[in-house]
Amino acid sequence: MKSLPDFDMVLLGGTGDLAMRKLLPALYQQVKAGRVSPASRVFAAARKEMTQAEFMALAEAACRPFLGEAYDAETWSAFAERVNYLPMDVRDPGSYGALGAALGGHPQRIRVYYYATSPECFAPMSAHLGAAGLISAHSRVVVEKPLGHDLDSSRAINDAIGGHFAERQIFRIDHYLGKEPVQNLLALRFGNVLFEPLWRREWVQDVQITVAEQLGMEGRGDFYDRTGALRDMLQNHLLQLLCIVAMEPPTGSDPDAVRDEKLKVLRSLKPFTAAEVAAKTVRGQYQAGAVAGQPVAAYAEEPGVSEQSRTETFVAVKVEIDTWRWAGVPFFLRTGKRMPDKLAEIVINFRPVPHPIFGESAHGGRANRLIIRMQPDESMRLYLVAKQPGEAMALQPVNLNLDFAESFRDRRLEAYERLLIDAIRGKLTLFVRRDEQEAAWSWVKPILDQWEAGDDRPMDYGAGGWGPAASSALLSRDGLAWNEEY
Ligand code: NAP
Repeated sequence: MKSLPDFDMVLLGGTGDLAMRKLLPALYQQVKAGRVSPASRVFAAARKEMTQAEFMALAEAACRPFLGEAYDAETWSAFAERVNYLPMDVRDPGSYGALGAALGGHPQRIRVYYYATSPECFAPMSAHLGAAGLISAHSRVVVEKPLGHDLDSSRAINDAIGGHFAERQIFRIDHYLGKEPVQNLLALRFGNVLFEPLWRREWVQDVQITVAEQLGMEGRGDFYDRTGALRDMLQNHLLQLLCIVAMEPPTGSDPDAVRDEKLKVLRSLKPFTAAEVAAKTVRGQYQAGAVAGQPVAAYAEEPGVSEQSRTETFVAVKVEIDTWRWAGVPFFLRTGKRMPDKLAEIVINFRPVPHPIFGESAHGGRANRLIIRMQPDESMRLYLVAKQPGEAMALQPVNLNLDFAESFRDRRLEAYERLLIDAIRGKLTLFVRRDEQEAAWSWVKPILDQWEAGDDRPMDYGAGGWGPAASSALLSRDGLAWNEEY
């Protein structure tokens, strides 16, 4: 991979969880790979007063566990030479003079502002950066999800950012789009002729997208209780994954060609009536239970969470897409906290053979299935049916495993690393456009409205389970079941 052009990256919120777990390690990896010139600089800004040395010691201790074997003291000092800590309150317009002075002139330099604070700071940061004259045609801004709480608040934040940055300068990050298997799904769909004829209602029975976490609140209960699984995960990550599966072939790989197609999918999602919200969505909240053999508390007992909380920690929906390609094919989406495994996967279930010539019992009722796995491992497996060795014509499923680790020796980029590189290079393809984001908020609006209007609580599920029983019923009504081969 080519060296990166000289850049300045300003992490506004440079001491937070995201900066320490993802952003600084991603930048370190790029330094280690020799792609960051000595002239490139990283600025980490937060309110806490500390010296440069104190910040680097804090960062080293925090990042090291996430770097694993990639850590070495020599690269760390080369990385540290490029990093500058800047104590500032991003809400205080008076503190931007110091930021400007630290950045110096460099009008032609690529400057990436990464908004790694809570979203309430996004509007003031944009206004103050603009007023201080720190935004040029070469500036970019990366914003994190969830952007807003609903359609109206997302519009307000987009307006505030859009008042100072052009749309081509705004990089709305959805790190699932940076994952290698997701990009491989694009390669599989649009780099091979094999799948396109099958990628439609005639041959696909159903699609399942699961993003399951074992973690609970990890100290973020206050944030989560105001957010919930639908806003935190489904509105963004799961709908973006659905778009990658369902989009029409774009005319090219340029950002708008791809994003236009994703937008069409989002606009084709069948809207829910109030009655359909009850029938086609399931929301759950975890109760006490055990995950990986360890007892864990109920959601309502987590720090920062209201005892009467009605926030969902699990959501499953049955989505339909009103297009010729997908009419009648159910897309089942589910995501939740305190599930049995850390699992992120897309499952494409193809239809069974029209006539099983070897008989139902020999065939075992197995149909072809493609599983794109993002967690815990990254893989893509195509399940076919083959004959068992021996006299009898007994069939069994076998899988063609496209094992990325074995097929490709190059180090795989972490999603954040890939997306930071793209932001530095100005490549928008894997970032979400404003109209996409607003189309996703529009589609979830009736669900949010209906949930908020009623008195119902989310259904209980035991921590360490796959969500309320109603989640399985959502599929069993169609004679289907969630994939359990993981
Ligand atoms: P966090 O741990 O609370 O960190 C927030 C950072 O912002 C800290 O460095 C904090 O430092 C700084 N900050 C807050 N108010 C400030 C102010 N007025 N002036 C200057 N700095 C300020 O939050 P996070 O988990 O890193 O999340 C950051 C953003 O990423 C959020 O929008 C979140 O929704 C999003 N996100 C995070 C993750 C994740 O894995 N953590 C994943 C997806 C999205 P001081 O308090 O010292 O100022």
